Amino acid sequence: MRRVTGDRLRLFNGESGEFTGEIARFNRHGGEVLLGERLRTPLPEQTCILSFALVKRSATDLIVEKATELGATVIQPVVTSHTQAVRVNLERLNAIATEATEQCERLSVPAIRGVVTLDSLLESWPESRPLFVAAERVDASPLAACLRDCGLLVGPEGGFTSRELDVLGRHPFVTLVSLGPWILRAETAAIAGLARLLAGHRPS
Ligand code: SAM
Repeated sequence: MRRVTGDRLRLFNGESGEFTGEIARFNRHGGEVLLGERLRTPLPEQTCILSFALVKRSATDLIVEKATELGATVIQPVVTSHTQAVRVNLERLNAIATEATEQCERLSVPAIRGVVTLDSLLESWPESRPLFVAAERVDASPLAACLRDCGLLVGPEGGFTSRELDVLGRHPFVTLVSLGPWILRAETAAIAGLARLLAGHRPS
């Protein structure tokens, strides 16, 4: 709001890239920017869906901010048996994701989806996309970097129930994975998991 006519700025979106711009007109209802040169073109990103069982508001905010910085392309809150919350404020989460995108100089803002149940997440999951499910206290291989389109599912503070782990394990696209020997908070698990999954990603 401190900007005035004639100020220069940068504008971006995931489809067209990043441009220089100059404010031609500006008031509290909106404004016009004259586009200048294109600074960056968007490169195809590996798609990664972060699904996480809803946690408290501050932890959800943290997950959205860090998942954006780490490169999640879709953020999907899920309700499971032990989930503590069932609602999200999509407008607020979109604002957090947009600010994090600007901060980390990424061009595309992740899509934040409305809350779904675990069953409907699994029903609509594309068979060809691997879904890595973070599961503590089970004999699972450590999560490794993934170089293709994939997804990560993290459970709630109370963990997945054994019935949910059974149901998850019956889907051919699901792999249970470990994030190490300690029991991480759900938000730490989401951040640590994405960091490992996307460590080898280079937009190309
Ligand atoms: N209440 C559970 C317990 O005490 O066994 C802990 C749940 S943990 C706080 C929340 C979620 O983080 C889990 O459902 C899981 O998805 C993930 N998580 C935490 N630590 C993990 C680990 N070492 N390996 C894999 N996933 C982990």
